[in-house]
Amino acid sequence: MAYRAEYIWIDGTEPVPMMRSKTKIIEDGKEPGIWGFDGSSTNQAAGHDSDCVLRPVFQCPDPLRNPGDILVLCDVLLPGTMEPHPTNHRAALVEVAEKYAAHESLFGLEQEYTFFKEGRPLGWPTEGYYYPAPQGPYYCGVGAVEIAGREIVEAHTEACMDAGLAICGTNAEVMLGQWEFQVGPVGPVEVSDHLWMARFLLYRVAEDFGVNASISAKPIKGDWNGAGCHTNFSTKEMRENYDAIIAACEAIGGPGKVEEHLEGYGHGFEDRLTGLHETAHYSEFRYGVSDRGASIRIPWQVALDKKGYIEDRRPNANCDPYIVTRLITNTVCSAI
Ligand code: ADP
Ligand code: MN
Ligand code: MN
Ligand code: MN
Repeated sequence: MAYRAEYIWIDGTEPVPMMRSKTKIIEDGKEPGIWGFDGSSTNQAAGHDSDCVLRPVFQCPDPLRNPGDILVLCDVLLPGTMEPHPTNHRAALVEVAEKYAAHESLFGLEQEYTFFKEGRPLGWPTEGYYYPAPQGPYYCGVGAVEIAGREIVEAHTEACMDAGLAICGTNAEVMLGQWEFQVGPVGPVEVSDHLWMARFLLYRVAEDFGVNASISAKPIKGDWNGAGCHTNFSTKEMRENYDAIIAACEAIGGPGKVEEHLEGYGHGFEDRLTGLHETAHYSEFRYGVSDRGASIRIPWQVALDKKGYIEDRRPNANCDPYIVTRLITNTVCSAI
């Protein structure tokens, strides 16, 4: 007898990488080992030297197949040296996470995304004015006019739970057809692995509905919300006292840090971080209690308890969590 392992990896497509996967059938009792793929078809190698290596780094049950089948998230290595491929940002995060392990960093990621069908956001009219009624009733809405795609969201949530991922909630977002799920709070490597796996399941589940899930940062121009990946963060110290909360905000806003972080927060932040639609303009840095127009929000409960976590609202929906959690862990933990 045998089982199926779906090998999943992040490709080299620019400016936003895509996910790829292929199936390996493995004899019962054997582990999923190192594998390879044609990097010339994924923007990761040239045709004359095309082999790239897949190294399993995280696995979980495959909730869409049979009991015993698994999903295997891999990072990509160069053949020969077995060094991380330039598109592999997980390796650098693992180093930083180990270096600062004593601070016990926790992350919670809010993944916003938009369903598309036939080139239009799901639920948007296909004739007449083409636009739905303005934003207002859709966020956390209920009802056939307010909501589009709930059946896909439910199937995705169930798949994540069955896979054992650290999904902790979902909600409908401000634009019709836009949704969010949250992962965490767990450590930086774990939250990133789980987010990538949850993204894979989102694409895969939506595929069965003939729908595309987009993590574009500004899927529709104009007076419509963009899509972010708010990054909630705490260290052991921040979970114990308020001085550490403020110190973390100051460190993230420190000299050179604002630019360095934005550079790693995903493609198209200029289109999304306009100062409108619950964002701070990318050219300014500001933190504040309950302030959804700030770069970093300190939740009101945290200000009340005088301990807890902070929310960096700037990362885009299309960010690589391996990069975002590395930047924040490094900046904050090296400063405290
Ligand atoms: P909102 O939409 O109000 O910004 P959400 O409920 O969508 O907030 O997300 C809150 C996130 O904060 C969740 O991902 C959760 O895992 C995370 N979180 C909660 N406590 C902590 C903590 N101590 N450290 C880091 N993240 C946390
Ligand atoms: Mn949220
Ligand atoms: Mn949101
Ligand atoms: Mn948020």
